[in-house]
Amino acid sequence: MLNKWEGIVIKSRSYGESNKIVTLMTREVGKVAVMARGAKKPTSRLAGVTQTFMHAMYMVQRTSGMGTLQQGEHISSMRNLQTDIVSTAYASYIVELIDRLVEEGRPEPFAYDVLHQALHAIEEGYDPEAIALFVDWKLLPYTGVQPILHACAVCGEVAGEFAFSFSQGGFLCHRCFHVDPYIIRLSPRQLKLIRMFYSVPIDQVGKLELKRETKQFIKKIVTTIYEEQTGMRLKSRSFIEQLERTPLLTRKPSEDHEV
Ligand SMILES: [Zn+2]
Repeated sequence: MLNKWEGIVIKSRSYGESNKIVTLMTREVGKVAVMARGAKKPTSRLAGVTQTFMHAMYMVQRTSGMGTLQQGEHISSMRNLQTDIVSTAYASYIVELIDRLVEEGRPEPFAYDVLHQALHAIEEGYDPEAIALFVDWKLLPYTGVQPILHACAVCGEVAGEFAFSFSQGGFLCHRCFHVDPYIIRLSPRQLKLIRMFYSVPIDQVGKLELKRETKQFIKKIVTTIYEEQTGMRLKSRSFIEQLERTPLLTRKPSEDHEV
C-alpha cells in the first residue's frame, strides 16, 4: 500500500553502504521509521528529503514491517536549522526529545504540532532557547507529569504568593509552603511565565523577549522534573551546555556593548 504522509525527519542514520533508516514524525500516523534505499548517495533524489529537520510530503510503500520511502516533496528545507550552529543545537535537542518521549504506532497530533511549530519558529528566527523551553513544558504530559499550575496543588487556592514544588507536582500557595521543605519561591512574573510556557501555543508567545536569567531559572525547574521523572539525559543537552559556556557563540551582536 502506498501512503502519503506529511512529516518531519527527527532521526536519520546509515544502514549498509548506501541506505538510510529515517525516523519521521508524521501528522497522520505519528512516529514511524522507514527505509530510504540509496539515500546516502549524494545524487539520490532521496538525499535531501532524508536529512534531519526536513519537512516534506513523504510517499511510503508499506505492507508489513518497515515501509520503504519512495519519494519526498519538500515543504521546507529548514535551511537555518541546517546551517546556524545555535539553531541546530536547539533543534537537535527538540527532535531528540520527541524521539525519546513519543512511541511508534499511533497518531500523536499534539506532539506533531508542537514539533512542527517549534522547528518553524526557530527557522524563522525566534529565540531558539525560549522555543526549546516551550517544548520542554508542553511535552511534560508524555513523561507522565501533569503539573498543577492553575491553582495550589494542595488546597486549590488561586490567590496569594506561590512556589513550585517538585514533590507536589506544581504550585503551592503560601499557606501550604510547609508541606514541602524544598519549594522554589516564584515572583508573580515567573509564575505567569511558567503558566504560559505550559498552556499557550508556541506561535502566540514565540516573540516574547526573555532575559537570560529568566530562561535559565525556568529551564532549571523543567529539566529537574524531566531528570527526576524519567532519568532522562539527552545527548544534545550536553552540546547546548557547551555552547552556553562559550558566550561568544551565543551572544547577540547587540549585547556586545553592554559589558
Ligand atoms: Zn495551598
